[in-house]
Amino acid sequence: MSILIDHCDVLDPTAPRSTRANQSILIVGARIQAIGAPDEVALITPPDALRVDGRHMLATPGLISAHTHSAENFLRGYAERMPLEPWLVWMIGQCGEYTARDHYLAAMMSSIEMLLSGCTGLIDHYWHSGPWNREVLDAGMLAYRDIGIRATVAPLYDDSDFVVATAAKLGFDISQSRYSLRQSPDPAIRHGVLLNNLAIFDDWMGAWHGQANGRLQTFLGPAAGQLLTADCLRRSLDQARKYGAGIQMHCLETRVQDYCIRQTRGCTQIEWMDKEGLLGPDVTLPHSVWIRSEADLDRLARSGAVPVHNPAANLKLGSGLMPMREMLDHGATVALGVDGACSNDNQNMFETVKLAALIHNLKSHDPKTWISAREAFEAGSMGGAAAMLHKGQLGELKPGQLADVVLLDTRSPTLSPMNDAYEMLAYCELGGSVTHVIVNGEVVVKDGALTAIDAAAITQEFRERVDAFPFRHEPPPEVARDMDAIWAFWRDVMQRVDRGE
Ligand SMILES: [Zn+2]
Repeated sequence: MSILIDHCDVLDPTAPRSTRANQSILIVGARIQAIGAPDEVALITPPDALRVDGRHMLATPGLISAHTHSAENFLRGYAERMPLEPWLVWMIGQCGEYTARDHYLAAMMSSIEMLLSGCTGLIDHYWHSGPWNREVLDAGMLAYRDIGIRATVAPLYDDSDFVVATAAKLGFDISQSRYSLRQSPDPAIRHGVLLNNLAIFDDWMGAWHGQANGRLQTFLGPAAGQLLTADCLRRSLDQARKYGAGIQMHCLETRVQDYCIRQTRGCTQIEWMDKEGLLGPDVTLPHSVWIRSEADLDRLARSGAVPVHNPAANLKLGSGLMPMREMLDHGATVALGVDGACSNDNQNMFETVKLAALIHNLKSHDPKTWISAREAFEAGSMGGAAAMLHKGQLGELKPGQLADVVLLDTRSPTLSPMNDAYEMLAYCELGGSVTHVIVNGEVVVKDGALTAIDAAAITQEFRERVDAFPFRHEPPPEVARDMDAIWAFWRDVMQRVDRGE
């Protein structure tokens, strides 16, 4: 299968206004074969190639959301004015017992919004409220297989909880609350559950990793630094590496997490992971907000681990500002993520690029340290590719790269006038100009519509299913009790960190 995009403009950082005009792009199989003058590319184009008229179109690499949770699509527009810890209690108190079909629909909903707005790939830190089983794990993969998006799925699990343990030491009992509902108090049982889960995941990884011509990947998703033993993280990395896969682990999203980890481990999360040999290019670290020392920034950059910036979620939950400039200066590769739809609450990567390009301006009086439009866009494209372990293979429009290509109509009101392409993409565009999307050499959006699925029917089924879970404006008494307990603990810890503890 070949595709010829004829007479388009191509995003190019070396060209005036970052745009190379009147080019043709030849895609053969899953990769870009050639980009150049239309008459030259025509000479090597197979006669049966699918032709896409690229006039008045700007071709860009697809954006990649390197962190989301598809199941949160059920909880859009639900919880505001709460930091992460109370928000988690509210969210867990509100979520349903999702079936495999629910997960299929939720994964579809993220993908529909993403593909139509120019995001060609995602890492789904796949969250399920009940015990893991193959049917639930397969559901997300089936959705991503069917719709045609590039997807890496990392099921989320844990085997410890430093927040509950730290709370107990400070005189707060949150062990029975929804904050830690999924964990047994018995370490032996938690270990047994971990081994069972890893065995289920192993079976699933063997079936799915690299399927759909490499478009689908399986990662492991050990939940977060404050929820894992060293044994759990080591087993997770060993198992992922067996498949050439990676892991995704929430890292230092909040000051409460940083405090609880330091109290428990006696050092920072990054120092501990470095000492234990648990960092590497196959480790993706969503949030990474509270990495602050030069030594930790060095450790992070040296390891090649990929921090994932989620500016919308960090703003909504008031978590803090990731040190993106400092990370880039230390040589780290930063990716971007939309995060789940209960903490954003959309799945729009253009908006995330814009936020990443803007929010760091508040931090310094030196504009040279601010994040540029190009840096933000490249974090959303090349950074995401690195998070997916496709560094140098994906995220740029170059011959030899995987063909994830987005075409935007430069006659749209949003892109008129078409000035510097990176600034237009980062500050003006929200996805409304997207007309065509190609993923892994397949056309998945044509003239603004998905080609492989009936988006209206899926959305209708999803909406009907959402109605099965009652919308609550106020938490029911048992959830409100859990929230009171976590708020009291949260205030106590925030006073401690404000005092410099
Ligand atoms: Zn997350």
